[in-house]
Amino acid sequence: MSTLTTPGIASRLTDKYGRAITDLRVSVTDRCNYKCIYCRTGNDGAQYSELPLNDYLRIVGVFVTLGIEKVRLTGGEPLLRRDLPSLIHELAKLRTTDGAPLDLALTTNGHLLEEMAQPLKGAGLSRVTVSMDAIDPDIFARITRVPGSFHKVLAGIRAAQRAGLGPVKVNCVLLRGFNDDQIVPFAKFARDEGVIVRFIEFMPLEEDRLWTPEVVIPLNELTERLSTFRPLVPLSANTPSETARRYTFDDGIGEIGIIAPVSQAFCGHCSRVRLTSDGKIRTCLFSQFDHDLYARMQRGATDEEMAAYIRSTIEKKEARHHIGEPDFLKPSRSMVHIGG
Ligand code: SAM
Repeated sequence: MSTLTTPGIASRLTDKYGRAITDLRVSVTDRCNYKCIYCRTGNDGAQYSELPLNDYLRIVGVFVTLGIEKVRLTGGEPLLRRDLPSLIHELAKLRTTDGAPLDLALTTNGHLLEEMAQPLKGAGLSRVTVSMDAIDPDIFARITRVPGSFHKVLAGIRAAQRAGLGPVKVNCVLLRGFNDDQIVPFAKFARDEGVIVRFIEFMPLEEDRLWTPEVVIPLNELTERLSTFRPLVPLSANTPSETARRYTFDDGIGEIGIIAPVSQAFCGHCSRVRLTSDGKIRTCLFSQFDHDLYARMQRGATDEEMAAYIRSTIEKKEARHHIGEPDFLKPSRSMVHIGG
């Protein structure tokens, strides 16, 4: 746990563009039991890296003294760390600079969630987001490259709802020609299962070279296609830095979110910073740089020195991504090795 005393609001993390950084994503492993076509290659053999959970705990503790309020655990597949409930149990004891408990969330592919939902809730997890890219089990298996995976994930979503980890959000990355026939089935799923379905535009973060602008289903096309099912009604944002545009249908049943980083970039109000599973800071998904916080910690840095280093990296946070522009360069890591 951090030894820093709680600093005042004036010392909260803010980048040079005036964005307050309040949201930390922590990848606890870059192993994954799925090989989603838009994320990974079909091959194994990559080198994996993960830290002892206590090291993540110390690092998160330092971030929290700098004004982090939301922590999302991710990966890789975070539920492959079977000791995850003990990390959550310790994180749940941390307090923000305002003295409030952290907003503790998890993003998972749901494959192991059925048995983990209750222990995660018991440990202090607030909410869960499950990635699910098709309602049709065959399409789902083609995307994840794991046969029989759909029913495990569905059972995981329902277990999370029963455990009180709701409202469960279900994230779907849409790819033209692969799963865009699932748009209306997902709208029905949101209404039938009482989950918030969020469609995410495909970003060039994959290990393979699948991304082209044509494969992306942009927000405007998506809202038109959803409206053929039922008229959409916009909802107001929950927070100023919310990435999803929220909608319901004309009868008020079901919630849909659309996250459109490609066609409607939201970098101007980005509040995020990421910690990779090997302890490096990433100031943007599309950054060309890693900032090696863990190396400093291993060399004996104090919490104060780590905090100073975090501040100096946030200073370098990129103004925006350059997807679709001539100067765009793929980031130095793919999504599975950054932590989504
Ligand atoms: N394994 C967990 C899961 O499946 O949710 C957590 C890690 S995964 C990398 C986090 C999120 O990133 C998932 O919702 C996934 O769909 C999304 N993602 C991965 N590659 C993406 C890409 N190229 N474009 C958009 N979203 C992507």
